[in-house]
Amino acid sequence: MPRSRTQSSSPRQTRPAIVWFRDDLRLADHPALHEASSSGRPLICVYVLDDVTPALHPAGAALRWWLHGALADLRAHLERRGGTLLTLAGSAEDLLPQLARHMDAGSVHWHHRLHERERAQDDRIRRALEQQGCEVRAHWGTVLLDPDTVRTKQGGFYKVCGSFWKALQTHTVPEPLGMPDVLSFQDVPDSVLPDKRLNEADLCPQAPDWAAGFRKTWEPGEAEGQEHLEDFLKDAVAEYPRGRDRVAEEGTSRLSPYLASGAVSPRQVWAALQTHGAHTDGPRIFLSELGWREFARYTLYHLPQLPFENLSPKFSGMRWRNSAADLKAWQRGQTGVPIVDAGMRQLWQTGWMHNRARMIVGSFLTKHLLIDWKEGEAWFRDTLVDADFANNAMNWQWVAGTGIEATPFFRIFNPTRQAEKFDPDGDYIRQWVPELRRLSGKALFEPWAAKEADLRHGGVILGKTYPRPIVDLKDGRDRALQAFRGL
Ligand code: FAD
Repeated sequence: MPRSRTQSSSPRQTRPAIVWFRDDLRLADHPALHEASSSGRPLICVYVLDDVTPALHPAGAALRWWLHGALADLRAHLERRGGTLLTLAGSAEDLLPQLARHMDAGSVHWHHRLHERERAQDDRIRRALEQQGCEVRAHWGTVLLDPDTVRTKQGGFYKVCGSFWKALQTHTVPEPLGMPDVLSFQDVPDSVLPDKRLNEADLCPQAPDWAAGFRKTWEPGEAEGQEHLEDFLKDAVAEYPRGRDRVAEEGTSRLSPYLASGAVSPRQVWAALQTHGAHTDGPRIFLSELGWREFARYTLYHLPQLPFENLSPKFSGMRWRNSAADLKAWQRGQTGVPIVDAGMRQLWQTGWMHNRARMIVGSFLTKHLLIDWKEGEAWFRDTLVDADFANNAMNWQWVAGTGIEATPFFRIFNPTRQAEKFDPDGDYIRQWVPELRRLSGKALFEPWAAKEADLRHGGVILGKTYPRPIVDLKDGRDRALQAFRGL
């Protein structure tokens, strides 16, 4: 029988409790862990990389890189308390019941997931465990509130974020839980599921190692997430209403990968903001962004087609273009439109892109290039360290105009105007598109319209050192409007 290391003062329960970590890689404010630890049972903490269940959405490459660090961080925290983290790879549907059987677990604890396919999988796992005599306990741990709580007067669900957010704030958001005081653990012998152990090194890129820029930019982990939050509240939240749109500045919290992996919980952010003057402009506007995150989850829960279909049925007849060359130029940051290329290269090199830049590159892809938003959603899913099934899909539908509450399709961002407004000194473009750094004024924003002498002076040869635009902005806009009118 496996050895148990018990330091708990709670009544002794001999059968262990499994805590199944998913997108909640933290110890504090973890209702599932909290409940399992107070049950008095010795704990088994497990993470399963389920790449094999076809109905689910596998983690993209950037997220896998993040996961590598986040799992190591969680394991280190658990080891400091005498435990460890077991990581498995394969079908969670097979592995959870198998692990529970091998270890004679008395209970399994997890946080609810949102998409109907994930919930269906959880139901199947629950049934299998219960048939084995193992109790299952689930909590809401990745959202502010259970998505069934916020209802319209007619009992339906909200389709507009503003009304949803207003309604949510009439409810009480539970206080975040602290770290459990005492944890006791059960060892899992090496002989249990030996061929299902996750080789965590495989989560990182080997050859080529494209993650150097990621390592320079990010440190995954619970303590780092809390530090990001504290630094942001101390230094930037007051200026957030202005700073959040300046692409070259660190005017936003950069909490997204910590929130997406669950190193920081939304309730922790909510609570921190309440004590930080939630009604003053900066904190209020920042909280409303957390509202968009919550709304994306709420929408995914109520409208599971969100990542797969245009929510506005009108777009089912949209004649998107199919151009592998244009898509590739966009992905590589080689469109010839500097602000678009800057955003796409920031994404490629760091796994993150400023929100304003995400809107600009999204508009450019779906409107100027008239390429289906699902291509953009897939690319972001693979390249963002904060890749998030709900946020990503909702924002792509918003940008493309295909969502329920979305920017109208005919509102097409002019990338040059956007750059002039949100990168007025051109610092963002110079940082990410260094071949243009010696250009100044309008030439930096629109090199194709610059005088030959200015380009020569800046060391730029269009078509050679920097691409000519792959689409004429006016022609692209007209083509998009024509496609839209044809619906
Ligand atoms: P802050 O401005 O500091 O905001 C704080 C938190 O609020 C963020 O961490 C995030 O959790 C949430 N938030 C902010 N803006 C939004 C928003 N528009 N929608 C939903 N939640 C928001 N965000 C992701 O977390 N994952 C994604 O995969 C993702 N894909 C996107 C795709 C497109 C096309 C667009 C336009 C936006 C996308 N976003 C996504 C939303 C947003 O760009 C990022 O959350 C934000 O840039 C993260 O930086 P931050 O943490 O500094 O944000």
